[in-house]
Amino acid sequence: PVEISNLVKAFGENVVLNDISLNVPSGEVLAIIGPSGSGKSTLLRCINHLEKPTGGTIKVCGEYIGYRRKGNVLRGIGGKDLARQRAHTGMVFQHFNLYAHKTALENIIESPIHVKGVDVETAKARARVLLGRVGLAERADAYPAQLSGGQQQRVAIARALATDPDVMLFDEPTSALDPELVGEVLTVMREIAESGMTMIVVTHEIQFAHDVCDRVVFMADGGLVEEGTPRDVLDNPQAERTRLFLGRFN
Ligand code: ATP
Ligand code: MG
Repeated sequence: PVEISNLVKAFGENVVLNDISLNVPSGEVLAIIGPSGSGKSTLLRCINHLEKPTGGTIKVCGEYIGYRRKGNVLRGIGGKDLARQRAHTGMVFQHFNLYAHKTALENIIESPIHVKGVDVETAKARARVLLGRVGLAERADAYPAQLSGGQQQRVAIARALATDPDVMLFDEPTSALDPELVGEVLTVMREIAESGMTMIVVTHEIQFAHDVCDRVVFMADGGLVEEGTPRDVLDNPQAERTRLFLGRFN
């Protein structure tokens, strides 16, 4: 459900994404790996229009994200229209970005109520199901500060799932966690992948990419250097840059 064509993103003179084309079919679990500064986060942020592309197009579920089509012209949209389009995607950030003054449950019901117009009781019931799915059924009324980093990230995943997205975007969801908390988050992500969700996962967890992802893309300097199955890219990389990058993990 994601079609990226000739995407360019520049910040002033700095071209951060340089002509990226990438399709992610329904049900695919794609890993994006690459060195710091290669543009991975910017690419994810363009997919839900947190960043506005400088050039090229991105379609999510058939819609030009951030635009409405009128004849042959694309008009920029904002506010509720953009929020509705964004609900096609659920995003999980490195730093969980939960509302500190809201409980786990309140964090999860926010978007369903305000973006999707779901009634409060329905949203709460669904939030409890999602909390169960991420192993936190007992912690609905906890505030973020009362939860471990791994638990907070699992709440953030439940929150991202709450709008029934077609695509889940993960931006290094485990890299801010203490090592002993990484596994519980990866387990939840694996279960979501196994449920058939389309996922784009920026990660440094090479083992996860290997075991769970259908395809791996290696990015460097704003471009896609190499892509293929995990076996191709991770076990038998063709490009020198990929080899150098992966060498760091051996
Ligand atoms: P990391 O692995 O460290 O998270 P990344 O691959 O996610 O890196 P990005 O965060 O996408 O890289 O950044 C790519 C480049 O874009 C960097 O040079 C960064 O400085 C620049 N950049 C990102 N966001 C902005 C912004 N809002 N304004 C200006 N430059 C930006
Ligand atoms: Mg990043």
